[in-house]
Amino acid sequence: PYHGGVTSKRVLLAKPRGYCAGVDRAVQTVEEALKLYGAPIYVRKQIVHNKHVVATLEAAGAIFVEENEEVPEGATVIFSAHGVAPEVYEQARTRNLKAIDATCPLVTKVHHEARRYAAQDYDILLIGHEGHEEVIGTAGEAPAHVQLVDGPEGAEKIEVRDPAKVVWLSQTTLSVDETMETVARLKERLPLLQSPPSDDICYATQNRQQVVKQIAPECDVMIVVGSTNSSNSLRLRDVALDAGSRASYLVDYAHEIDDAWLAGATTVGLTSGASVPDELVTEVLERLAAQGFTDVDEVTTVQEKITFSLPQELKRDMKAAA
Ligand code: SF4
Repeated sequence: PYHGGVTSKRVLLAKPRGYCAGVDRAVQTVEEALKLYGAPIYVRKQIVHNKHVVATLEAAGAIFVEENEEVPEGATVIFSAHGVAPEVYEQARTRNLKAIDATCPLVTKVHHEARRYAAQDYDILLIGHEGHEEVIGTAGEAPAHVQLVDGPEGAEKIEVRDPAKVVWLSQTTLSVDETMETVARLKERLPLLQSPPSDDICYATQNRQQVVKQIAPECDVMIVVGSTNSSNSLRLRDVALDAGSRASYLVDYAHEIDDAWLAGATTVGLTSGASVPDELVTEVLERLAAQGFTDVDEVTTVQEKITFSLPQELKRDMKAAA
């Protein structure tokens, strides 16, 4: 339809978006290992849940495997940012693998909490998505003590030994609001339920959701750059809808954007998950500009300054080689 003159079409670009400190460190770990030891370097599971990142590292000589058994004896293997159960380290030792652990320190923190509460014989209610690698790794720290709670409905099924000795922990990349709803449901049944000593949902997840919530009410469409197996990216898509964006889509690449999504829209929100390099967002901005969305307004809610140093075992070898 003719709108009578130029309609200004704008993009609200969320910040913070994209790479978090844990992803940055994990990707750098693979890059540095390739430089230091040469290809191939084996990586157990996708180093981070992003198609483009995995393809790029693959092209540089990384070989992604599902389990340690696929790694030749004596080779170098990197464990992904999502963390692994203790038995995975054990397998690596048995196979004489040189293991480098790229688990995000904020995931490791949750592993420590699980171990600590298990040692005190607590029942641990781990809120998270069934089958997600991070949840498998965290639960693996104390399988006899951990029960998974997948969303508010999952709260109904929980049985504990002693209602006075129960704590909830969570996956790092959940929806903050949905998790609070799950906790509220759990507390109806278990009033003495304890909370984790500090936030398990990490700063990056919280910050990316917070800015999306702020811009979503003004958006006709939210585009979230991220892969379909990326928990935090999926949550951004959901959070946008809950917060008032009329539609919300997850794409790996700019070319996946359908013109029909933009038809009639005047404001498009744009963000990206914690495992997404910003070049992919730049490509989306170009794609949007080609559709007349040339006015880009970056909305910043907080400046992130967190960085993590590379895994100890890698730093040691880098130093020795210098
Ligand atoms: Fe670590 Fe959070 Fe990034 Fe996951 S999303 S790697 S927990 S900082």
